[in-house]
Amino acid sequence: MRYNKIRKMDIANGPGVRISIFMQGCAFHCKNCFNPETHDFNGGREFTDETIEHILDLCGKEYIAGLSILGGEPMHPNNIEGTLKLARAFKEKFPQKTLWVWSGFLFDRDLKEKEVLKYIDVLVDGQYMDELHNPMLAWRGSSNQRVIDVQKSLKTKKIILYENELQTV
Ligand code: SF4
Repeated sequence: MRYNKIRKMDIANGPGVRISIFMQGCAFHCKNCFNPETHDFNGGREFTDETIEHILDLCGKEYIAGLSILGGEPMHPNNIEGTLKLARAFKEKFPQKTLWVWSGFLFDRDLKEKEVLKYIDVLVDGQYMDELHNPMLAWRGSSNQRVIDVQKSLKTKKIILYENELQTV
């Protein structure tokens, strides 16, 4: 699998100062996608064990609140194994820091059985829908997308939204 870029100081994708990685490849092609350069599965650069080590090193800085994984599509069949490997390594090393993931797939329809969810604190799910675009929304581009508290949702077997979402709008 491949990734597009790593940001070493991201304050836009989740709470606090974060490391973010944008995976390469997405088959959804949402209208007016914010990141079209991530669509081509052959673009970007190779995602390796060294990439994971590099990200873990960056996440070790005290002021880093957590890791955000975006795309592209981290949960596409081509990418999900790498996303799982990174998510597991991150949570094992930094259980006190948060992992946020963005995906066009839906938690309840597509993802709830996937092992990777065990390691994710917050999932922003659903494709971007241009007709539902709202710049006032925190951490999502359109109002159909949901900011989900993954661990509470897995425990209760229903969708529980991330409770701090409204406080940050
Ligand atoms: S799922 Fe995300 S990366 Fe893929 S086309 Fe839609 S907005 Fe772009």
